[in-house]
Amino acid sequence: MEWTEARVDQLKQLWSDGLTASQIAEKLGGVSRNAVIGKAHRLGLSSRPSPIKRKTIQLNTVSERMCQWPIGDPGDAEFHFCGEPALHGRPYCAEHCATAYRRKSESAA
Ligand SMILES: [Zn+2]
Repeated sequence: MEWTEARVDQLKQLWSDGLTASQIAEKLGGVSRNAVIGKAHRLGLSSRPSPIKRKTIQLNTVSERMCQWPIGDPGDAEFHFCGEPALHGRPYCAEHCATAYRRKSESAA
């Protein structure tokens, strides 16, 4: 998929709205979360005053009730955990439980 002007505009809008890279990737379609992050960095969007960043959860503060899905590369300064409320009895939020489940069944197939 190509980064057309319209898609870049949409990316900027969604990014400034505070959506996560994976949410943006989902909305844009045909693009990976990593591609969204990479594009956002190239556009200089990473310094947004984002609600996501404010609730950034570091490894030592992540609570059992928060989604512990890792976001980004563990070696990266931007690395953090999802932090959304986790489903009861699960380590992840609904979105990431679905992702984890999907990955599991894919590798089993
Ligand atoms: Zn999550």
